[in-house]
Amino acid sequence: MKTYTIAVLPGDGIGPEVTAEGERVLQAVGQRFGIAFTLAHFPLGAAGVAAAGDPLPEETRAAVRRANAVLLGAVGAPGLEHAPRHLKPETGLLALRALLGVYANLRPVTVLAPLVDRSPVKPDRLRGVDVLIVRELTGGLYYGEPRGRDSGGSRAVNTLVYTTPEIERVARVAFEAARRRRRLVTSVDKANVLEVSQLWRDTVTAVGREYPDVRLEHLYVDYAAMRLVSNPAAFDVLLTENMFGDILSDEAAVLVGSLGLLPSASLGAGAGLFEPIHGSAPDIAGKGVANPIGAIASVAMLLRYGLRLPEAADAVEQAIGTVLAAGARTRDIAAAGEPVMGTREMGERIANLVRSAECGVRSEDTPVNSALPTPHSALE
Ligand code: NAD
Repeated sequence: MKTYTIAVLPGDGIGPEVTAEGERVLQAVGQRFGIAFTLAHFPLGAAGVAAAGDPLPEETRAAVRRANAVLLGAVGAPGLEHAPRHLKPETGLLALRALLGVYANLRPVTVLAPLVDRSPVKPDRLRGVDVLIVRELTGGLYYGEPRGRDSGGSRAVNTLVYTTPEIERVARVAFEAARRRRRLVTSVDKANVLEVSQLWRDTVTAVGREYPDVRLEHLYVDYAAMRLVSNPAAFDVLLTENMFGDILSDEAAVLVGSLGLLPSASLGAGAGLFEPIHGSAPDIAGKGVANPIGAIASVAMLLRYGLRLPEAADAVEQAIGTVLAAGARTRDIAAAGEPVMGTREMGERIANLVRSAECGVRSEDTPVNSALPTPHSALE
């Protein structure tokens, strides 16, 4: 029996609650398809600080280096907001991404028909929305040096820096993805103000010449933010740098109705990192009400792009679609008066469906994840 080692980093807040459901679904996939998953837990974020005084402990570093893929929950704890930088949960996450070299973060955003009315955006604007955000993940403002705050505290600095090769490799991921989709790349920058954005624009334009069959357009980030809610169906692949991508992907979550629904895959040359796009949600942590679908859809991305098991990924994505179509709702996606289920029940419903072999044949409503590039075709 084929065996895969998955390092599970539940992290903080609702992270452990949603990754538990992701693991449940992964085990159901194992039973259905005859695959063995070795799942082992390692601390990250505030959990790492509590366990080893480090948001990315050595034990976790060693485990992710050995793993075939990494499944992550979320990091962040209210008590550590003002901790020194080396003890902040987010420092562990940034270090993890750098350690794995996962420079391309893929965030598919599709509006599922049963949830159209859960978005504050008008239904007519949501028709046909199918956006793939490709966010550069290991460079830009979140990593640039120098950074820090003066000892007096009244001056602080961060550095926005990109090199041509960093832009080229992530741009290629976007163009390769567009080739498998509707052949449009919208590159987002702030080239009217920032020199780094001018380099971004020049480099993306040059890479675009290698893909004459893909249309390339450039938008300033302020206009892109507006278009994302006023005409989201106009996007196919949205390519952008680290911080703009962070912000725009949360904005895109408004289109689907909840942050709790969206998955992501972070890919590089080695093991991929798969995580829902939401944070640790301290306001609902420990209550069993978090939506696990973002984490479960991240498991589908792990199967497809981390382990190259497309049939298993199809089964998970279809199970998600089926339970939503049948009316299963966690609190964040329920309309007033609709019955609500908790994190675990939602996970069990999806896992049962995966196990029961009623899903797995590709259908019209298979989510967009299937149109993403494989790491090999797009990243090598
Ligand atoms: P958040 O994503 O944690 O929460 C924003 C809102 O969305 C909250 O109201 C929350 O209850 C809700 N929400 C999020 N996920 C949900 C889910 N699965 N089901 C139902 N509702 C959900 O963002 P925030 O409040 O800005 O940040 C909280 C902490 O998380 C901070 O410490 C932040 O630094 C951290 N954070 C971590 C990541 C990550 O680990 N990748 C990403 C974003 C924020």
